[in-house]
Amino acid sequence: MARIAYVNGRYRPITDEAIGIEDRGFQFGDGLYEVWSVRRGRFLDHEEHSARLERSLRELQIDLPVSLPALDVILREVVRRNRFTDGLVYLQVTRGVSRRDHPFPVTPVRPTLVVTARGLDFTTIDRRAAAGIAILTLPDERWKRCDIKSVNLLPNVLAKQKARDAGAFEAWLVDEDGCVTEGSSTTAWILTKEGTLVTRATDNRILWGVTRKAVRALAEQEGLRIEQRGFTVEEALEAREAFVTSASSFVMPVTSIDGRTVANGAPGSVAMRLRELYIAAADGAAR
Ligand code: PLP
Repeated sequence: MARIAYVNGRYRPITDEAIGIEDRGFQFGDGLYEVWSVRRGRFLDHEEHSARLERSLRELQIDLPVSLPALDVILREVVRRNRFTDGLVYLQVTRGVSRRDHPFPVTPVRPTLVVTARGLDFTTIDRRAAAGIAILTLPDERWKRCDIKSVNLLPNVLAKQKARDAGAFEAWLVDEDGCVTEGSSTTAWILTKEGTLVTRATDNRILWGVTRKAVRALAEQEGLRIEQRGFTVEEALEAREAFVTSASSFVMPVTSIDGRTVANGAPGSVAMRLRELYIAAADGAAR
């Protein structure tokens, strides 16, 4: 059975050619996206993802073509039609279809709304977490509005591919000052030798991770000290632990950076504890 997508008011097979050639998302990358994890049929951090979606829409001056409650129904219907209980839901909104011209369309057009979903076996991710992942560091070549979840992911795609070519799972992007901004699709964290969790502050150089926020709250509850600042690659290599967070990987320990092991090369206990807490909280509280 082909997966089912929602496209501008209709549920249709994902294999359908349903987007206009002059869609501004295709022509200019003039659009944004959002991603939710679904576990046991429930959306994790649902409100936070919806709030970030609204912010991205506001920043790009794109109107969601349906109300938020209607969107909620669509998200759940796409999951239902794809018949899974564990998986990921992707949403893209673009400025719509209009004759190719850089400025916004003079006559307003209806934004394009697409929702897709796919099942995911979270035990695969659990196994990855138990092993830990390798990181490759690369220069951050992105624009200066990474706080907007725009569909312009080319630098992220290229960085991720370079990492995979080098046998690493994720790329950490490094700014002009030598500080890690974030991963190509994850938030970057370290636990210093002194036991302080460090992750970059939410500025324009990173996406404001929803999982970052949830994990930060859990770490605070655990009594961990948290500093929001950039850290260098050297600092990460000297850290007690390193890890990444994202909606699809939750908390994922990092065991090597640029081929050098982090601490003793095993997943850190604090990262694993935060992962456990995040999953327990998500399974208990998600709706
Ligand atoms: N940073 C980037 C560049 C991302 O693409 C993502 C997730 O897609 C994240 C961070 C993590 O954000 P979240 O925890 O909301 O998934």
